[in-house]
Amino acid sequence: MGSVRGAVSCAERRGAHKRGEAFGASAAEMRYRSGLKEMPGFDDLLGQDAAKTTLERAFSLGKVHHAYRFEGPPGVGKTFAARLLARALVCERVAGCGTCSSCTRAMSLATEGPEIPGHPDVIMVGRGLYPASLIGSQESTGISVDQIRKIVLPRMGYGPHEGRALVIIVLDADELTIAAANSLLKTLEEPPQNTHFILVTSRPKRLIDTIASRTIRVRFGPLPKAALRTLLHTEGLSPDEDLLERAQGSLDRARLLGSEEERATYANFVEAVEKAVEARDPGAAVRFAESRPGERDVLLDHLRYLGTSYALRERERAERAPERLGEFAEDHRIVLRAARAIEQNGSPALALEALILELSDRPR
Ligand SMILES: [Zn+2]
Repeated sequence: MGSVRGAVSCAERRGAHKRGEAFGASAAEMRYRSGLKEMPGFDDLLGQDAAKTTLERAFSLGKVHHAYRFEGPPGVGKTFAARLLARALVCERVAGCGTCSSCTRAMSLATEGPEIPGHPDVIMVGRGLYPASLIGSQESTGISVDQIRKIVLPRMGYGPHEGRALVIIVLDADELTIAAANSLLKTLEEPPQNTHFILVTSRPKRLIDTIASRTIRVRFGPLPKAALRTLLHTEGLSPDEDLLERAQGSLDRARLLGSEEERATYANFVEAVEKAVEARDPGAAVRFAESRPGERDVLLDHLRYLGTSYALRERERAERAPERLGEFAEDHRIVLRAARAIEQNGSPALALEALILELSDRPR
């Protein structure tokens, strides 16, 4: 690395690789071209081996697709991976060396104004990312067509400023409004040369079909505990086993639970559920349902915490009475059912009432 070959762009290199052309190359590039690649670009992607392999293979074969959709639960590294892919595409050396100016700028985020990457060829869009004064829309219902028209479309057809690749990252792509999605369809299907889209979503079912069908899925799963622990350590946190268990593979949730204050709100929710269940009274169920956290996502998060609490409790009980494992697991299933109903756009109030009533019927 750092040789004169460093001046060859990724796109040119991929082209040469495809054509099987030989040119003087550094050892790293020789390995890269022979498939024994050295791609520091994705080394930082911890705990997502399947996604990492997919992306590395795409690079080593010179077949990076023009439109990906990164799917998986919240807080498992999808956006980070999108930024690593963008970095690898605009890198001046070998697929995300991490040290060249392009890599550095691709990974840095502006500290003033919209929090977007410092590289002009890495474009980020997301609901509310840009001020209404800039895009002319408040975006109360989702990523507006105005944002796409102002930020994305003007860049199509002119190629990357710096010659390598133009990358558009769409955060929470399931929040694209119909008009915004429609304005992207043609470009998504046949983007200009060296242009790549990466759509990030933790709610793939809400993604508009015509958008989903034009993108290649890369799946992200919950982070394994070891990866979670390593990531938290790098942030100066020392998670205990209980926190790792409750984080359920999400770095975001682990960070939240690392805060005493946040953990108390989850614990309060569990306590409120228990109280309503113990009351064994429909009135208590209704009152609890009315006092729930207002936002759907927050409520879902609390329900997942409750589910994990039950799962942990069941595990303990089952150790004492293994023959009753199925019975113990029922509470957990009831919670998951309520969460699923809310996820599928059911009424949160009704789902919570049903939750409390069903749990009340269970032997405590
Ligand atoms: Zn680089």
